[in-house]
Amino acid sequence: MLFGSTGKNSRASSMIFTVGSIPVTMHWSVLLVVAILAAQIELRAAIGWTAGFLAAVVLHELGHALLAKRFGAREVRITVMMFGGVTTFIPYGITHGKRFLISAAGSAIGIVIGGPLYWADRFGSLSIPPGDLQNVIRGFVLSAFFWGIFNWLPMLPLDGGHMLVHALALKIHPRSAHTVARAVSVLAATGAVIAAQAYFPDSSFLTIFIVIIAAQGVFAPNPYRIPPDRSRVEGPAQSEDPLFGIGGDMSDR
Ligand SMILES: [Zn+2]
Repeated sequence: MLFGSTGKNSRASSMIFTVGSIPVTMHWSVLLVVAILAAQIELRAAIGWTAGFLAAVVLHELGHALLAKRFGAREVRITVMMFGGVTTFIPYGITHGKRFLISAAGSAIGIVIGGPLYWADRFGSLSIPPGDLQNVIRGFVLSAFFWGIFNWLPMLPLDGGHMLVHALALKIHPRSAHTVARAVSVLAATGAVIAAQAYFPDSSFLTIFIVIIAAQGVFAPNPYRIPPDRSRVEGPAQSEDPLFGIGGDMSDR
C-alpha cells in the first residue's frame, strides 16, 4: 500500500493511495461520518466505528476491483465517499458470467472476513473488551457482514441488482435484463420495507433508507439503451457494453 496526498489526478478534497496497482481515492467527506456519529456517541468511539466502516468499504471495493482486474478490465479504480464506495472499470471483453462474479465479489469478501469475526465476538471465545479495538471491529462487522448481506438483495443499484442483470443477460438481451431487474427491484424493496417495519416498528430510518436506494435504481435510465451514434462517440472500449461502472458499494450507484 502506498500513500500519497498528491498525484496526477488528485484534488485537494481527496487523498489518493494505491492498493496493489489499483488507485483508491478517499474523499475527505468520509470525515463527516465521524461528525454524524459523534452526535450520537463519544468522539473517540465515533472515530473507531468510522475506521472500521472505512476498512470494510475499501475491502468490499477491492473484492470487485481485484477480480475485475484479474478478468482483464481496464482503468480499474476505487472511490470512497461519505456513504460508501464505488468501483469503476471498463469491462473490455468481459462476459456477463464474469461480470456477475465481479458484482458478487465485494460482499463475498466482506462476509467471509466479517462473518467469523461477528460470530467469534457475539457467540465465541473472542471476547473483545469495550474500547477502541471493539469499536473498530464492530464498525467493520456492521459494514462488511450485515451490509454485505443486504447488498446482495436483488435490488438495483445494489450489487444484488447488478448480479441479477448479469445472470439474466446470459439468456436475454441486457436491455431486457435490466428492465426485468428493475421490476424485481420494486418487489425486493417492498419486501425489505415490510421486513424493516416488522423488526424495527419504532424506527422509520431503515424504511426511508431502503426507499431512497430503490428509487435511485428504479428511476435511473437503462444503461443498455444508448443510441448507437452516442456509443461510437464514447469510443470502442465502452461501445460494446455501456454499463461499465458496476456500482460497487454501500451508497451504491
Ligand atoms: Zn459492491
